[in-house]
Order: sequence, then structure tokens, then C-alpha cells
Amino acid sequence: MTGGRAAKELGRGERVVPGAWRLRLPLPWPGVPHGNAWAVAAGDGIVLFDTGMHQPGSLAHLERALDMVHLRLELVRHVVITHAHVDHCGQTTPVVLRSGADVWAHPAHGHLTKWLANPEGYWERGIEIALQSGLPEATVRKAAEGLKGREIGIAGGFDVDHELVDGVVVQTDLGPFTTVETPGHAPSHVCLFNAERRMLISGDHLLGRVSLFFDFGYTPDPVGEFLESLSRIEDLDARLVLSGHGRTFTDVQGHINANRKLVAERLARTEEALGDGEPHTAMEIAPHVMETPIDATNASWLLTEQLCFLRRLEVLGRVEKVDTDPDRFRLV
Ligand SMILES: [Zn+2]
Ligand SMILES: [Zn+2]
Repeated sequence: MTGGRAAKELGRGERVVPGAWRLRLPLPWPGVPHGNAWAVAAGDGIVLFDTGMHQPGSLAHLERALDMVHLRLELVRHVVITHAHVDHCGQTTPVVLRSGADVWAHPAHGHLTKWLANPEGYWERGIEIALQSGLPEATVRKAAEGLKGREIGIAGGFDVDHELVDGVVVQTDLGPFTTVETPGHAPSHVCLFNAERRMLISGDHLLGRVSLFFDFGYTPDPVGEFLESLSRIEDLDARLVLSGHGRTFTDVQGHINANRKLVAERLARTEEALGDGEPHTAMEIAPHVMETPIDATNASWLLTEQLCFLRRLEVLGRVEKVDTDPDRFRLV
């Protein structure tokens, strides 16, 4: 049945300003129906900031979006990756094969790319985190069944031709975009700032709708890193943000403040949930902290986030991990 409400998402392109286009690409995730790639004119071609996820038919969605704004894959000269999450870099390899473009990415992309040789390991790591968080084993095992043999969402490995570290510049017809390292959401996260136009390509660091996610276990303190990255972006004084999901937005300071507020609230609620002095698992406290029940559909995201808040409080000396299985935490 094809009702209006069930209409299938399609890749769509639209102009943002002369020389820059939003390419809205469908995603298979509940609550995250699409993500953005951005095309910016550069000489006789375009720079493609992010590529979308690799899934059946995904390249056709990218081509459809480009076609709507009279662009083609063959025009891509550089693929610039904001961070190594599949919805941002998954189609890098097919785009490079079609266009001959070179690839720009932060060198710390291993949190995703190291799993290319071992996709089962990627899912097993998630299962291990869920068990350590205290999600009931039966629930985890059931969810794990559904993950067997499932693709991660990235079409093979790619070589990085240019490392996107602080200060590296990507030239476009709109002027230079300068790399600003913004770890936290992901270890490999960068934003790209065009100072002439005060335009920021923000990936998932700053989104139109405040939504937190942190990669757990790759760096010492993802939440602390995220807060530092917010301050770095605040200093830029951007006025137009092209983010990884959703529409462009202009109230940059308001979005930075809202992110800080949500982080502060969830840290406070984490301490509150541990207030009885007893050791608790992430799973036990997450429903209170996140203000929503934890189930198989949101566990991987929300428990990871909860572990990162606990880690932040450990770094601040407010919480300690107790040596149990699964992991439990208590106030110091
Ligand atoms: Zn992301
Ligand atoms: Zn994303």
C-alpha cells in the first residue's frame, strides 16, 4: 500500500545560497528519517561535504538529489567528510569511483573504518556495551539475532588523501572553508568554517534540533570533548549553519546554549539518580536521566550516551565505577 503518510523518502536537492546546495538523503533509522550532504561550487566542479549512508538504492538517491539542482556525481572534485559515521561517509567509495574525487577526512576515523575488516565485530562491540550497561541478557541476545550479517552502512574502505586537521583549508567558489576539529559526537568530527560568509558546515556537532550522541570508549571523555568543541564553535561567531540533519539555521548561539543546557541537565539527573548512594548500572538510571523508557530500539544510542555522562562525572571526580559485572557506578 502506498498512502501519503507512508510515502517513501527520496533524495532531494535544494539551493541554500547561490553556489551551495542541500542534498537531503533518506536514512533507515527511526526518528532520523534523513541526513544531509552539501554541495558547494568549486571551479569546474563541486565539493561534496558528506555522502550519505550506503544502503540498497542509496547512490540513486544522491544522484536524484544532485539532478534536482542540475548537478552530477561526475562533477565532484573533493569529498570532505565531517565525521566517520555511516550516514556521513558511507558512500565515499562509490562517489570516488564515479567521480575520481579525492577524499578529505580527520585521521581519527578508525572508530568506524577499523570495523570494515570485521563487520561482525562492530555489532559484537555494541552487544558487549549493552551487557556491561546492564541491559537484560535475553533482550540483548534477541536484538543480536537481528544484527547477524547486517551491513554497517559503509560501502568499503577508502584512502584519505588530505587529513582534515585544524587549519586545513578547502577552497570553493564561496571562499575558503577552514577545518575546526570538534571531537565529542565522534572522535573524528570536524566542522568547516567559511569566515567570509560566516557559514559553518557543522556535521552532527551542532544540529537544528538538539540531539546528543557521543561515541563511547574511543577517547577519554567524549562529553568533556564535546563541551570544549562547543566553545571552539562559539568563538567563530557563525551566522548560518549547514548541519548534518535537518534544515539550515541561523540562531547559532541559541543552539550552543541549548546543547550546554541539555548536557548540564543530564549530568545533574545522573547524579540525582545515583543519589541513594547505592551502585547502579547505566540501564537502571538511564530512564530517569533520559526521561524515556529504554527499549531495544533506543538502547544502543541512549545507553552509550548514559555511559558517556557517567564517564564525564568520573573525570570530574563525582562518580566512581564499582568492580561488578555488569558495571555499576556510585557517587563518590
Ligand atoms: Zn554522527
Ligand atoms: Zn548524522
